[in-house]
Amino acid sequence: MEEFKDFTEAHTCKETLKAFEKLCVKLGLDNVPHEEFFDQLSYGLSKNWKFKRFLDHLKNKFQDTGKGKATKILIVGAGPCGLRIAIETAFLGCKVVLIDKRDAFTRNNVLHLWPFTVTDLKNIGIKQFFGRFCCGELDHISIRRLQLSLLKIALVVGVEVHTNVEFEGLKCPQKNGGTGWKAVCKPQNHKVSDFEFDVLVAATGARDALCEYKLQNENGIVIKQGFDRKEFRGRLSIAITANFVNSNTPAEMKAKEIGGVSSHFHQQLFKDLKTKKKIHLENFVYYKDETHYFVMTATKASLLQRRVFREDFPDASQLMERKNIDVQSLLAYARDAANFCTNNAMANINFAKNSRGVDDVAMLDFSSKFEAANASHVVERNGKKLLIGLIGDSLLEPFWPQGTGCARGFLGAFDTAWMIKNWKSMNAEPLEIIAERECVYKVLSQTTPNNIKKKYSDYTIDPKSRYPSINMKAVTAKKAKQFYDDVQDDNYEDVVSPAKKIKRTDETVEFNDLLQWCQKVLKQHIQYNITDLTTSWRSGCEIGCLIHVFRPHLIQMKNLDPSDRFSTMETVVNIAQRELGIYPVITVSKMVNCSSENEVEMALYLTQFYQLFHEENI
Ligand code: FAD
Repeated sequence: MEEFKDFTEAHTCKETLKAFEKLCVKLGLDNVPHEEFFDQLSYGLSKNWKFKRFLDHLKNKFQDTGKGKATKILIVGAGPCGLRIAIETAFLGCKVVLIDKRDAFTRNNVLHLWPFTVTDLKNIGIKQFFGRFCCGELDHISIRRLQLSLLKIALVVGVEVHTNVEFEGLKCPQKNGGTGWKAVCKPQNHKVSDFEFDVLVAATGARDALCEYKLQNENGIVIKQGFDRKEFRGRLSIAITANFVNSNTPAEMKAKEIGGVSSHFHQQLFKDLKTKKKIHLENFVYYKDETHYFVMTATKASLLQRRVFREDFPDASQLMERKNIDVQSLLAYARDAANFCTNNAMANINFAKNSRGVDDVAMLDFSSKFEAANASHVVERNGKKLLIGLIGDSLLEPFWPQGTGCARGFLGAFDTAWMIKNWKSMNAEPLEIIAERECVYKVLSQTTPNNIKKKYSDYTIDPKSRYPSINMKAVTAKKAKQFYDDVQDDNYEDVVSPAKKIKRTDETVEFNDLLQWCQKVLKQHIQYNITDLTTSWRSGCEIGCLIHVFRPHLIQMKNLDPSDRFSTMETVVNIAQRELGIYPVITVSKMVNCSSENEVEMALYLTQFYQLFHEENI
């Protein structure tokens, strides 16, 4: 069948989605309920014996997790981890919708895989779509190819995929059993905005982490929610990645892969490179995959010496700014290093092109690493609970030289699938489920290929099948309460998440007294001329200053920009909510443009600060 051939042979994300849509139309599957999709697809393709074998193999992975309403999941991010959990939760019988803001898989970079990841990918049938998977000397795959193969498997098992859809936030369920949890998406009128779900999985990648998202209630009030993150900052570390076209010529085939060479172990090679080419590296990797892929850690001094950096700056972000990088020198640096370490194998080979159509060489600063403080979160509004999980780089940013990205990403995806399975069957109380998830999360950053269980064929989503020991008492249900947000109404100050509840008086205060108190508090800060309860507060800095006076550790005034009123107001309102349990009464956009018409709401908002702080000395 032509449609089937087009699907299996599709080379890009767009082609794959289009071909699969055509295949579904051809088989009459375009409107089939998700519970029946896989069986009907199998039936439709049963004449293709090779594919049928693959489908029969997948069929065994579907679990009967009980009757009742199917759990509906929205997964944000079609990177390797988002796609992997999509497949696993489809096996659990969930209705899975996956969105990504992009519609192309463009990353040539090649991932080194831990042995269990190779077993896992083979086990879900990657070879059906990529026969050459891990046939070389070293176990690796380009990110692009991995995403493409996982996408095909995800579609086959019934995952609904939408590209060019960006997640912006959450819309609270309506009161009195109306609609459930929905996403605020861009474009707004996309059909995903109507999808009601009870689990949200964020697999948005490191820099895009869903650590802050908007929660919009029925009145359009926007509140910022999210996961706290910890940053681990080390010394300056600069990675360079380079991809060359691989035409598989006999000469190219002879080039030997280098699976992670560090200067400690190959001192002579690194010394020669430094002397002869003025290139000083700390480590170096070369994989021959769809491209010739090189990744290396370079010292700042040698990048300055080779004029890759135009100027030296002590601040890493200034140093790495695009305008401070000489692209031609960077290309020459990468090519010289690649040539030197492969005995000139790259001398006459062109760089591959990246998604922007330019030579695929990139430089990135990985001096700091982010980790989410917790892996799960429950939000309850109007009687409806939403379970939220973070996975992949959003949860735990990897350290690339250890190749931990996909491995820990997949482990975290399985752990989250386990949490979803428990949530779905409701075998335990919600707090117990998230407490267990947090206990398991504590193990993740410690995992190495050597300290996880070795019998990969026994791996399931149950964490106990993969980790030799987990301290299940590390986070108790009581402790997990901090990850359970069940504010009943985001409009009013008396409804604060239990975790944020802060003792405050119930004292009401006259507008005039409130104004006088605010003026007294901000007296030392003459730049803020407070004359009323509305227009004087528009820049956001005034509220920031109010917080700063009583809790200086929460806000540094120099970080508040009065010229960017919206963002400043958003920041301070968010801090007040998170740290003090003070909820906004009107939207941020109304606050930055407030006038005397908003006096009651602004007074209500400022009264919360009064109630919290007026008994404290300034
Ligand atoms: P990503 O792959 O980053 O995918 C996130 C997706 O989310 C993207 O498609 C993005 O478009 C989408 N998205 C983001 N925000 C939104 C939104 N609001 N709405 C909708 N969609 C959104 N790992 C290894 O395992 N082995 C290695 O050898 C290795 N080497 C590396 C070398 C380098 C130089 C680097 C930088 C990384 C390396 N990694 C390696 C890490 C690996 O690339 C990542 O761990 C992996 O890609 C993470 O997958 P992910 O699914 O979590 O996120």
